[in-house]
Amino acid sequence: MKDSICPLNSSLKDVLVCVNSEPAGIAFIVDDFKKFKGVLTDGDVRRLLIKGYNVTDSISDLNFNKCVYAYKGDKIDDLIQKTNNKIRIIPILNKIHEPVDYFRNEHKTFFTPVAEPKFLGNELKYVNDAMLSTWISSKGKYIDRFEKGFSKFCEVDYGVSTSNGTVAIHLALLALGIGKGDEVIIPDLTFAATINAVIHSGAKPVIVDVDIDRWTISPNSIKKAVNKNTKAIIPVHIYGQPCEMDKIMTIASEMNLFVIEDCAEAHGATFNQKKVGSFGNISTFSFFGNKIITTGEGGMCVTNSSKLNNNMRILRDHGMSTDKKYWHDFVGYNYRMTNIQAAIGCAQLENINKKLGLNQQIENAYKSIIKNESIIWQNTFSNTNKVVWLVCAVVEKYRDDIVNELLKYKIDSRPFFYPLSSMPIYRKYSHSNKNSLLISKRGINLPTVDNVDIKIINMIFNKFYS
Ligand SMILES: *Cc1c(COP(=O)(O)O)cnc(C)c1O
Repeated sequence: MKDSICPLNSSLKDVLVCVNSEPAGIAFIVDDFKKFKGVLTDGDVRRLLIKGYNVTDSISDLNFNKCVYAYKGDKIDDLIQKTNNKIRIIPILNKIHEPVDYFRNEHKTFFTPVAEPKFLGNELKYVNDAMLSTWISSKGKYIDRFEKGFSKFCEVDYGVSTSNGTVAIHLALLALGIGKGDEVIIPDLTFAATINAVIHSGAKPVIVDVDIDRWTISPNSIKKAVNKNTKAIIPVHIYGQPCEMDKIMTIASEMNLFVIEDCAEAHGATFNQKKVGSFGNISTFSFFGNKIITTGEGGMCVTNSSKLNNNMRILRDHGMSTDKKYWHDFVGYNYRMTNIQAAIGCAQLENINKKLGLNQQIENAYKSIIKNESIIWQNTFSNTNKVVWLVCAVVEKYRDDIVNELLKYKIDSRPFFYPLSSMPIYRKYSHSNKNSLLISKRGINLPTVDNVDIKIINMIFNKFYS
């Protein structure tokens, strides 16, 4: 700060020396009595030079009247109020009008999203390679490599890549022969893609409640909802938390039901030392831009059954016969991933454990900085290794006020998903929903991006729960 204070009798060159001395890139101009006059940035100097000034000219005749400033001790809210797209730095003066500090709103002028893709390795290289190979559509070496690599990561034999995570669920239902007249049990607390895929298959979704501590589908509620038409259960490992797969698989085998795990938010999580995605008949993943790893848009079905693997491939590729080209045995779909997407996926997969580790570190940082009894972090369970996708908590009250307050600081957060049963289009499928209503009303997802300012988030929580 000291080196960036510049007396009024300086030249433009002196100003540039001051600007250069401070990371904020700004010179604080003071008069002979060290009182604040105004600021100059390198942009200001550039504009003066263009106007015809020389670097040796003095700045004493410039007009500094319009400069915004604040006083030491002013509230952070007031400081933020004074910043905008153009004014990002506010000089802070002491009582006798000398500049003593400045407030910089740089990181807050950029929006902090809840999640963003991270390219830690070979993404560009592989995409480039795919482009140069001209195999940019749905054939090419990266597709096979991504399917093999990702299914191996899930400890499952086969992977069938798809254009997104929603059609992966649809494809799984189709391959299992589920459709009209069948019922499929799903949890009330999930992203709508789960239920939409069931409805598009022609089957009837049956919405059941979630467990109050785990937030995942309640095995007891599943049992109550089973009837003679029930064909499958779709447990969703919501917010990185594995469902109670032991109980669910027992129910499924007793009642002769298929299991499709929706793993869109839980790549790499384990239950009893076993990866999610390796329990069900088919499991589905999403690689949307904000998920744990991404291919832009994309998804995958994984299975240990070679028969289901073949069914899915045929249905995904227009229902075309694998022996006889352009001969169609089924009314199929085009649900394929492109080689370019798979190229991104291969690079993402190389660093998936690193990404999961980084997300975990961010969650740990939240827990160590924010210590407030009104905030209950997502639970952990001894037989379960949840993964961190977004940082999740349920709060006592004021959830929506907190979301709005965070937005004022340009920090995005999300209320938990609305329970499916709360939306008119899905209400008729609902079976039970007490816990999901409670959790959804109080749940908040916080950013897992690198530069998230957890101290500011802590300050906001403390405003509400002091
Ligand atoms: C993201 C998501 C999906 C759908 O994935 P898309 O790739 O966006 O189609 C399905 N289920 C859950 C639980 C999800 O979070």
